[in-house]
Amino acid sequence: MNDETVAIHGHDYADNLGSRIPPVYLTSIFEQIGEANKSDRGVDLKYSREENPTVRALEKALAKLEGSEDSLAFSSGMAAINAIYMNSLSSGREAIVTCEAYGTTIKLLQTYAKFGIRPRVVMPNEDEILRSVTGETSFVFVESMSNPTLKVLDIGKIKEGLREGVQLIVDNTFLSPINYKPILAGASLVVESLTKYISGHNDVIGGMIAGSSERILDLWETRRMQGTILSPFNAYLTLRGLKTIGARIAVAQDNALKIAKHLREHPKVIEVLYPCLEDSPYYEYVKRNFRGCGSVVSFKVRGGRKEAIDVLRHLKLIIPSPSLGGTESIMTYPILSASSSLSDECKRTLGISENLLRLSVGLENAEDLINDLDNALSYI
Ligand code: PLP
Repeated sequence: MNDETVAIHGHDYADNLGSRIPPVYLTSIFEQIGEANKSDRGVDLKYSREENPTVRALEKALAKLEGSEDSLAFSSGMAAINAIYMNSLSSGREAIVTCEAYGTTIKLLQTYAKFGIRPRVVMPNEDEILRSVTGETSFVFVESMSNPTLKVLDIGKIKEGLREGVQLIVDNTFLSPINYKPILAGASLVVESLTKYISGHNDVIGGMIAGSSERILDLWETRRMQGTILSPFNAYLTLRGLKTIGARIAVAQDNALKIAKHLREHPKVIEVLYPCLEDSPYYEYVKRNFRGCGSVVSFKVRGGRKEAIDVLRHLKLIIPSPSLGGTESIMTYPILSASSSLSDECKRTLGISENLLRLSVGLENAEDLINDLDNALSYI
């Protein structure tokens, strides 16, 4: 089946009342008389910190979309990432992360230094990543499309060059499984912040890990101990949002391309970063490997910090806020938000500058968004 269909039917839920829509199992306990009921992955269904049928329905749909054997849903993207760190690392080992990864992903890894783990932060470049790997490396953590400069990494190439035993962890949040499936390119585990395209309505915080049944069962134990399962209600909202992911992403990407082309011609804009623009250095790779580029467009305005903040201040429709991938268009100022903790060398080398703005294009009418941008840009 194709992804749009999987997103709607992939949860496989059916009960003896004929409901084909997974209900919200708002229960912390399941009756225990003799043998516990088992969920389809073979774990006991007895306590919702461990396993819950609404969450399970979501996990089944997500695993199919990612092309993985199984998946695990968490209370946030960061809870999912922390579960991987906690589960995979031990004292004396090292972990590699790219310098343009989500700032909190890097910071969290750096806090593991106090347990004797060596975090290594490297440039987001395939050769550089592979050169950094040593016999002590547990995993390499990369983003399939980076934030905020929307660089694209060749996951297949990294996988090919990695020595055996080193896990390749891919955060696919900026693309979503609709646009790219890192598992099929050889990733050991895939992380998604469900908060973004997958739930899609700016009303849920959640995370997911996809991988082999064996690795997911091991991570299930970590989640059970940490108490970081997604709540049943947020699982329900995410399943609801997931049904329309194909249609939402199609509209948002269409809007994003129109806006990227408009901004490229705008006299107050000096650079537009969007890999689906024909003059992007990633265009050929993207055409061959991705279904689309997502709906985040970054751009540099003429001027510096004052001008960038002036644009944010004069938006009327687009919301100045963090996050991406939802129905509402949102603009962030990376240097003061997600990228604030990145090293100066990383910011300088990758062009994360004072005049850079990141726009997550939503599902509003493209003309209304362009008018809002033009109006805000007219103040600088
Ligand atoms: N990964 C990426 C690429 C993100 O942008 C974010 C949040 O913005 C996260 C992970 C963390 O996800 P969450 O906010 O759901 O914890």
